[in-house]
Amino acid sequence: MGLDLMNALLAVYQGELKRNEPMARHTSFRVGGPCDLFVKPKSLDDLRIAVSFLTSQSIPLTFVGDGTNLLVRDGGIEGAVICLAGLTEPLTESRQGEAIILEVPAGVKTQHLCRMAAEKGYAGLTFATGIPGTLGGALTMNASTEKTGWETVVQKITVVKRSGKKETLKAEAFDFHYRRLSIGGKDRLHLGFPGIAAATLVLTPGNPAQLEADRQEKLSRRKASQPVSLPSAGCFFKNPETGPSAGQLIDELGMKGRQIGGAQISERHANYIVNTGSATAQEILDLAHQVRENVFKKKGTRLEEEVTLVGRQA
Ligand SMILES: Cc1cc2nc3c(=O)[nH]c(=O)nc-3n(C[C@H](O)[C@H](O)[C@H](O)COP(=O)(O)OP(=O)(O)OC[C@H]3O[C@@H](n4cnc5c(N)ncnc54)[C@H](O)[C@@H]3O)c2cc1C
Repeated sequence: MGLDLMNALLAVYQGELKRNEPMARHTSFRVGGPCDLFVKPKSLDDLRIAVSFLTSQSIPLTFVGDGTNLLVRDGGIEGAVICLAGLTEPLTESRQGEAIILEVPAGVKTQHLCRMAAEKGYAGLTFATGIPGTLGGALTMNASTEKTGWETVVQKITVVKRSGKKETLKAEAFDFHYRRLSIGGKDRLHLGFPGIAAATLVLTPGNPAQLEADRQEKLSRRKASQPVSLPSAGCFFKNPETGPSAGQLIDELGMKGRQIGGAQISERHANYIVNTGSATAQEILDLAHQVRENVFKKKGTRLEEEVTLVGRQA
């Protein structure tokens, strides 16, 4: 992208703007080549201005949060990455009878939201305890630690379409599935999927001490079973609809510890691929390919990625 285009955007927009920004800096895997333009709006207005400007220039857009579910290929991302992690205010709350209504911007950390809710005695978010990343990413992925997810608490979603137009959607306009949100039948893998700017959540009154004790207990269990010290994107594969979990299948094949370059199947949790320090996205993809082939050949199960793969080949 040319400097003149950047200057034109800078004239109307307040947020962060970087050229050729390595995506390894913005993903929990710590891999990924540069994006042409990295755009981090400070506010909803900023987001709308940037999105409509970039769309008017026919620049492809990729919306991201904290990059904790992203595997960016080594060739980087064409066009602009719009990072919504900067949209953190205002977080407002109100009451409708007993119900607690939270209006939460997409950049708020899911863990912050869960901690705040437990401390205030707002029940309903236990399923999201310990999940890294932003609310926008959590909604897009329907990220959860349980069978149910965000469908249990989300009342409305505010999106910014690729035209830059803001729209608030009621529940009939979106559907949550296993690790997937679809809006008007499109999910994150479709070109027209909008940027999620905020959501309205409905929580119920609970006991703060009990909610906080449950949260701490859940966090300790996660810490004990997950490889948190090495970069990863959490579980690499979705669990099959029936039968053993992806982790169990991989473990039963004795694949824990297998390594290609700097990419390794975690010794601690077989469904985690970790970056031992110097991995490339290609090494992670090659290792994932071996896992998929092996599990299909020996167990007859086709594993699908949970991690979102984006970007171009190096
Ligand atoms: C150590 C570790 C543990 C994890 N544990 C869990 C777990 O228990 N359960 C679970 O489900 N997941 C887990 N994850 C995966 C990940 O944290 C979640 O999917 C998380 O909700 C992603 O949020 P994010 O902001 O990082 O999204 P990103 O990784 O930035 O993006 C994820 C997807 O959503 C899209 N996206 C992000 N924000 C927006 C937005 N505002 N508007 C439109 N599209 C958007 C991106 O394009 C991408 O397709 C784990 C990851 C790690 C590293």
